[in-house]
Amino acid sequence: MSESREIAATEGSRGVERTASIGRARQAVLMEPGRLELREWTPPHPGPGEVLLEVKCALSCGTDLKAYRRGHPMWRLPAPFGHEFSGVVAEAGPGVEKFSVGDELMAAPTASCGECFFCGRGQENLCAQAMEKMVLGAYADFILVGAHVVARNAFRKPPELSFEEAALLEPTACVVHAQELARPEKYETVLVVGAGAFGILHAMALKAQGVREVAVAGRGAQRLEWAGQLGADRVIDVQAAGAEEAVASLNGGYGPDLVIECTGQVDGWREAFARVRRGGRVVFFGGCPVNTALSVDTRRMHYDNLTLIAPFHYRPRDVRKACELLCSGGLGAGRIINARRRLNELAEVFAMLERGTVLKCAVIP
Ligand SMILES: [Zn+2]
Ligand SMILES: [Zn+2]
Repeated sequence: MSESREIAATEGSRGVERTASIGRARQAVLMEPGRLELREWTPPHPGPGEVLLEVKCALSCGTDLKAYRRGHPMWRLPAPFGHEFSGVVAEAGPGVEKFSVGDELMAAPTASCGECFFCGRGQENLCAQAMEKMVLGAYADFILVGAHVVARNAFRKPPELSFEEAALLEPTACVVHAQELARPEKYETVLVVGAGAFGILHAMALKAQGVREVAVAGRGAQRLEWAGQLGADRVIDVQAAGAEEAVASLNGGYGPDLVIECTGQVDGWREAFARVRRGGRVVFFGGCPVNTALSVDTRRMHYDNLTLIAPFHYRPRDVRKACELLCSGGLGAGRIINARRRLNELAEVFAMLERGTVLKCAVIP
C-alpha cells in the first residue's frame, strides 16, 4: 500500500497547481445488482500508454441503470462503476506522447483493436476488444484510462467545452453511429420512440442536421415536456387516447419515414415496426433484455419494403464525429444534463434514475 504517495495534478480550467492525495481517493464499485459501495482506493501508476485521469465529471447512463438493476452480461461483479467521463490528466504512463499532465481530456470508454476480422471490414463496433476492455470506474476521483483508448478514442477537450458536455462523448458516438446507418434526410419525418436521454439526444441530433419534423413518442408528462423543450417538434404521449392516430397522421398521413426505437423493450420494437411508413426504415437502437424475441409480419416486411437496422455501439469514426459535434457546440447536447450531484450522493442518483425524474445526472467528485 502506498497511502502516502502523492501525485501532482493541475486544476484544469484555472491552471492552478495543486497536489491531490491519492490516499484519499474514492471509487464506486457495483458489488452486486442493487448494491453500490464507495470505497477508499489507491489509484495505480499508469502503465505504458495509459493515463490516470482526475475525474471532473461522470454522467449517469441508462446502461448503468440496467446494470444496477440486473447486472451486465459483459461485466463480472464486483466491478468499478461508471463509463461516461471527462477529466484532467493527473499522470501519464511511459510512452504517452499525445497528452501530458494537466491536459483536459474527453474519451470514449472503449476502443477497437484495428486488426481483427471486424475491424478489417470497417465494423469496429463489433471488435471483441471493444467490450472486453471497457474502461470502467468513472464514478470516482480518478480513473485509469487504458492504452487502447488513449491511442484511439481520447481527445483534448477545448477550454470552451464544459467537462459535463465533454463527458457526453460516448452516448453521442452511439447516436452518431445509428444515424450514419439510418441516413435521415432533411425533408423527412422521423419518429423517436422513447423519451429518455437517448431518445432526446437522437431528437437533438436530428434537428441539428436540419431534419424537418421530429416527433418523440413516450410516456411520462415530465419527460415529454423535456423532449419538447429540447427540440422535438411534436411529442406524443403513448398512454393517452389517440396516440396511434397521432403517429399515423404524421407525414401527411403516410406515417414516419424513419422510426428510431430507444426504449430497449420488445413492446417498443413492435411499435416501431408497426408505425413506420411503407418503404421506411426502422432503427432498433435500444438493446432489449436477454431471451426476448421479435416476430415480424413477413408480408409487411416484404410488400411494404421495410428496412430494419440494429446498430450496436460505435466505431472510431463515430467517436471522432461526435467529438466534432460536441466541440463545435452545434448540438447543445449539454442541455440534456438536468441534475448534478456529488460522488457521495451516488445512491440518490440511482434512486432518481429509477424514478425517472432525471434525464442525465452529472456526478462531480
Ligand atoms: Zn453510456
Ligand atoms: Zn478489432
